[in-house]
Amino acid sequence: MRRFAIVLAAVAVVGVSPAKGQSDDVNRLVAAVLGDTPMVRELEELTDHIGGRPTGSPANLRAVDWALARFKAAGVDAKKEGFQMPALWLERSATATVRGQGVSFAPRVAALPFSTATPKAGLTAPLVDAGHGEEADFQRLGAKSKGAFVLVETDELKDLDGLFREYNESAKIESRAIAAGVAGLVYMSSRPSNVLARHNASLGPQNRHPMMMMERDGAARALRLLRNGTALTLTAGLDIQGGPAYESYNVIGEIRGSTKPDEIVLIGAHLDSWDLGTGALDNGANAMMVLDIARQIRRLGLKPVRTIRFALWNGEEQGLNGSFGYTLTHAAEMDKHVMASSYDIGTGRITGFFTGGRAELLPILDRALGPVQGLGPFTQVNVPIVGTDNYDFMMRGVPNLVANQESANYGPNYHARSDEFDKADLRQLRLNAAIAAAVTWGFATMNLAVPHQTAQQIDSLVKNTDLADQMKAFNVYDAWATGKRGLRP
Ligand SMILES: [Zn+2]
Repeated sequence: MRRFAIVLAAVAVVGVSPAKGQSDDVNRLVAAVLGDTPMVRELEELTDHIGGRPTGSPANLRAVDWALARFKAAGVDAKKEGFQMPALWLERSATATVRGQGVSFAPRVAALPFSTATPKAGLTAPLVDAGHGEEADFQRLGAKSKGAFVLVETDELKDLDGLFREYNESAKIESRAIAAGVAGLVYMSSRPSNVLARHNASLGPQNRHPMMMMERDGAARALRLLRNGTALTLTAGLDIQGGPAYESYNVIGEIRGSTKPDEIVLIGAHLDSWDLGTGALDNGANAMMVLDIARQIRRLGLKPVRTIRFALWNGEEQGLNGSFGYTLTHAAEMDKHVMASSYDIGTGRITGFFTGGRAELLPILDRALGPVQGLGPFTQVNVPIVGTDNYDFMMRGVPNLVANQESANYGPNYHARSDEFDKADLRQLRLNAAIAAAVTWGFATMNLAVPHQTAQQIDSLVKNTDLADQMKAFNVYDAWATGKRGLRP
């Protein structure tokens, strides 16, 4: 999701009206989701009552059962579907103390996903200034980084571009740090003052090091001291609940198609979140949007031509595991999936869709967006992207869409303590629901045929775009390259 790729591939789109006969249904659906539905109340319940819901936690299981009950209360057929999580990882607590000659302070820290635990009494090691974690920084440190906690300075995260820069850089920073033999990796928080976030750790469950994020103010103080010549140590106490592979659950709702019930159009958003905040922007808002669209179609008694599946994914934050599990469980009907869409960028305005390098989707999207063109303009970005639940559909050759959204306040609150209900733009969320409803309904009713991609085509997509780099940043490249995930030639 590099900026240059987006600029080069952007294709301006002008909406057109839907085919006659569909327009009444889609207009009724759009009007319904724009009305006073339970969506906002449900988002408040999911975030304020159930709270942060990392996969593997009791709150996550509560969220699954609650969401299933909401589908059923709406009269939508729904079920829990099990899938395998590769490992259990939850933070119990995280503390840190920085000490030097005449200096002692305890900045707030959060363990990064898949950080190892420290011994109960904490792990003490020299704290060294690793600049921005560049190759040159590690060369400058030389042997000093061996056995030390390396403190990596960050830029403040303002927007989506900054977020994807963090993802791309962190994989490289981690491999440099590991090659240098560090005791652990400490990122300065990229959020203001003492706001923490649980992000990044690119190696997933294979990680063998303690990794944490330190509040920005505390990390800045440590860096000033180090740069003024004060030697420091860090004592970190990371208490992690780990465990082997286990079963988690997606919640899958379904409204059967009237004349092509074996063809499936899927709309999904992940229900799990991280747990410093309560996951309102990432991704409670879009999960509640998916649920509400199902509810309104059912309430209006609308009959789609194709079957619509409403997926509330789980395990997304820990490796896109729920949607991966779905593609395994439903492997026999993957060819029947006409389109799979993902919504996962908070509540900024939907500006169009990432269409994964498939030009044939563009005219279909134009038509589907026709009834909501007043909420545009819409610009499709025809590049493949990694980072949410479209991934395993893309790597299985299924036509897939990811809603592209204005950054709004998504970046600063990403995986952060501050991702709470009051950050959601409730008005824009309703407008986005109208857009998502129109696109879903369009694909579920229009005459269309989008061929699935072959293993060869997927391979050339990996080779001819920046897909491989993105896959590495999200720790999913090796699984594809070794034939464990997605199609290989
Ligand atoms: Zn997300």
